[in-house]
Amino acid sequence: MAQHDVNKIKDHAELFQQQEYQELFQAKKEFECGHESEEVTRIAEWTKTWEYREKNFARQALTVNPAKACQPLGSILAAVGFEGTLPFVHGSQGCVAYFRSHLTRHFKEPFSAVSSSMTEDAAVFGGLKNLIEGLAVSYNLYKPKMIAVCTTCMAEVIGDDLQAFIRTAKEEGAVPEDFPVPYAHTPSFVGSHILGYDNMMKGILSNLTAGKKKETTNGKINFIPGFETYIGNLREIKRIANVMGIDYTLLADNSEYLDSPNNGTYNMYPGGTKLEDAADSINAEATIALQAYATTKTREYIEHEWHQKTYVNRPVGIRGTDEFLMKLSALTGKPIPQELEDERGRAVDALTDSQAWLHGKRVAMYGDPDLVIGLTQFLLEVGAEPVHILVSNSNEHFETELRALLDSSPFGQGATIHGGRDLWHMRSLLFTEPVDLLIGNSYGKYLWRDTKTPFVRIGYPIFDRHHLHRYATYGYQGTINLLNWIVNTILDELDRNTIIPSKTDISFDLIR
Ligand code: SF4
Repeated sequence: MAQHDVNKIKDHAELFQQQEYQELFQAKKEFECGHESEEVTRIAEWTKTWEYREKNFARQALTVNPAKACQPLGSILAAVGFEGTLPFVHGSQGCVAYFRSHLTRHFKEPFSAVSSSMTEDAAVFGGLKNLIEGLAVSYNLYKPKMIAVCTTCMAEVIGDDLQAFIRTAKEEGAVPEDFPVPYAHTPSFVGSHILGYDNMMKGILSNLTAGKKKETTNGKINFIPGFETYIGNLREIKRIANVMGIDYTLLADNSEYLDSPNNGTYNMYPGGTKLEDAADSINAEATIALQAYATTKTREYIEHEWHQKTYVNRPVGIRGTDEFLMKLSALTGKPIPQELEDERGRAVDALTDSQAWLHGKRVAMYGDPDLVIGLTQFLLEVGAEPVHILVSNSNEHFETELRALLDSSPFGQGATIHGGRDLWHMRSLLFTEPVDLLIGNSYGKYLWRDTKTPFVRIGYPIFDRHHLHRYATYGYQGTINLLNWIVNTILDELDRNTIIPSKTDISFDLIR
């Protein structure tokens, strides 16, 4: 066997430029009898036109690159915020491999979730046997404190009943009778990852808090982050609560799980909200959800079943953070400390420094409803003008809320909300009505390549840049982070556009 020099292993960006690969690609192209490159170029140019845009927006039976993921993906993200919890997906193995790899690629952390591995026989006879066996194996092998079960499309299409199945599994001794096995039905042919998050959060809270209601409150505030993929946000919320001296329960805290220290020992269940604290959340003073559309069912459940007040606060930008802190102060009677007031002053100062570069910039963005509302609020604060706002997992409620926010500012008047559309629609929008900036997850890099629109990565997933998920977008510190990413993208672009010596470089300035 040939010996390879480990110091000469080529990265694939270099490897595929080698002659043998180039010849192989050429042979493949000839074998596939593809169109002539002139024809490919002609069609590609046509897809940039208004005529194509109209055809693109008329399509109904096809979705191309939707900015959303499956329900169970949101469910398992909710589950790992609880101490010692193993997410269990009742359905086919391929779905779970996709969820795990998706989350691992974003957080650069191992993500453990098991599957009942349903195959053809389970699709015909039902998945009860798989679920019983799967629960028994998971319980004995991985020693969790809780197993949170959700479903994939396959289990939903054949109508598997999780409540009955889990009861049967307990009767057959797969797990002890008092072992918590919350569940959520999460068919991906409706909703998206944010609904899956909501369903699972409701399922876990209703399981853990059953029979735990007391006469008096525990004086705490519950925070529900929603489908949160910025670890820095969870840490920022905890820091703010600690600085204000507020007793709280985070429902749930997956920050350690998704960003565990590398100390040489593998821990399958790092961190997480203690199950007894989650059980006692029914006795809190109030619950604040940091996202509205990923917590709709959970908030309804808390209001109606726990008789507890719930609020929605998105601490994004100056106004969002101000409102969040004032709500905390009003609920707890604790004053807003000088430390946070100073942070506010620094954030306002930073906005003032950069505002001239942002004022009037036309922006396109896409993402989850709450992310988009938070970003819109921030952009309007700095005088940027949202133009195309695209949300694949949109709903009427959200569009009404966003429209009201846009209407409240002179900078929001030119915005169009594209609910239920996908990133192929966004491509048409960017070609026909260009903007100065595109904001979205990593999938936007193809739009950036095609349309050359300067691109800021904010959202989920972010696969192709490292460490962004460790930062906060919440609070005054998060405001500075958002500002940093956005204004420096604009300045990078300005440098690129003024780089030609003796032609454009008169504006290639050192000081911006
Ligand atoms: S859409 Fe359904 S079948 Fe497809 S990956 Fe998602 S859960 Fe699995």
